[in-house]
Amino acid sequence: MKFRNFKMIGYVIYGRGSFDQLDEILSPNRKDGLPMIFLVDHFFKNKDLVNRIPLRGKDKVVYADVSHEPKTGDVDSLSAQFKNEFGSISGIVGIGGGSTMDLAKAISLMMNNPGSSADYQGWDLVKNPGVYKVGIPTLSGTGAEVSRTCVLTGPTRKLGMNSDFTPFDQIVLDPVLTRNPPANQRFYTGMDCYIHCIESLQGTYLNEFSKSYGEKALELCIEVFLKKEKWDEECDDKLMMASYAGGMSIAYSQVGVAHAVSYGLAYLLGTRHGIGNCIVMNQLGEYYPQGVSTFRKMVEKNKIDIPKGICKGLSDEQFNTMINVSLGMKPLWENALGKDWEKIMTREKLRSLYEKL
Ligand code: NAD
Ligand code: ZN
Repeated sequence: MKFRNFKMIGYVIYGRGSFDQLDEILSPNRKDGLPMIFLVDHFFKNKDLVNRIPLRGKDKVVYADVSHEPKTGDVDSLSAQFKNEFGSISGIVGIGGGSTMDLAKAISLMMNNPGSSADYQGWDLVKNPGVYKVGIPTLSGTGAEVSRTCVLTGPTRKLGMNSDFTPFDQIVLDPVLTRNPPANQRFYTGMDCYIHCIESLQGTYLNEFSKSYGEKALELCIEVFLKKEKWDEECDDKLMMASYAGGMSIAYSQVGVAHAVSYGLAYLLGTRHGIGNCIVMNQLGEYYPQGVSTFRKMVEKNKIDIPKGICKGLSDEQFNTMINVSLGMKPLWENALGKDWEKIMTREKLRSLYEKL
């Protein structure tokens, strides 16, 4: 048995209002004459948060257009832009949801690696460390703040740049930044965490390390989405820690069926990660009976719309594309269904699952 030796994030600061310590955190990481880039989710354009960013010298705020999830082309053009304008940069600070954080991680890597980010989609392909990078979540759930990947849609696949160079050097967990997203968005992203836990806890890769984080994250998700009468500050605090722990849980295991199927939807239809996972989870009673039953209770309690019929009218070719993308996620299937997964999840079986969505 060979054990994985995984790289973790550098520094973590947690607490309401901790965002205001950003200047002092960045200061020792600034390099003479080179700017810090603040990549900010476009939701925050003209919002107060932007005025609280500690700009110095040539620092720049750049808005991330996350109306779609990050593409390798976005990463390549932004990193080229920074290279042209500044030669190099002190670092990059991603402030936003999973999309903005992943974009920041990928740009950091591409500042110091040749070619296109598409060349590095996969496992351990990145050759050089990136520039200093900081993640500041404004939505809780993806675990992108702790993970060793940054998920990108490229010319031929949706796959992350998984490497030891990918995790952030610093994260700032300030639950105040996550207050007030639309209820549907908060739920979809929060459920990403819930689903990470179910998939990790029911997976064949599970060990005590993953389990201890997964169980805690699951408990926190159920508390905020099911047990609490109404949403309050404590829920923001708890969901932020659930996201962190959920990310830690899958760091030493893997996700499973919902993610493998959802990746096919994302690739073909551009379905976003959180909502896509929810659409799939809703139909996975056969694989995660208890998890799906609790999921449905949470949907009902929070009065959330989970779309149905999104695969209606697709052609055979389109179904095949989704099936190919999905079956390509081998570690996810192996974690979910064991070494013989290919005998269980046949193309026909997966097709009928897609038809139900
Ligand atoms: P997101 O980053 O895609 O953002 C969703 C929407 O919410 C956007 O319109 C954004 O502008 C808005 N938003 C962000 N913060 C807000 C706030 N505080 N208030 C109101 N609106 C706000 O959503 P997400 O679910 O956090 O991230 C999904 C992305 O994360 C996908 O691209 C997925 O591939 C990626 N992901 C990465 C990992 C990883 O380990 N790297 C894990 C899971 C998902
Ligand atoms: Zn996920």
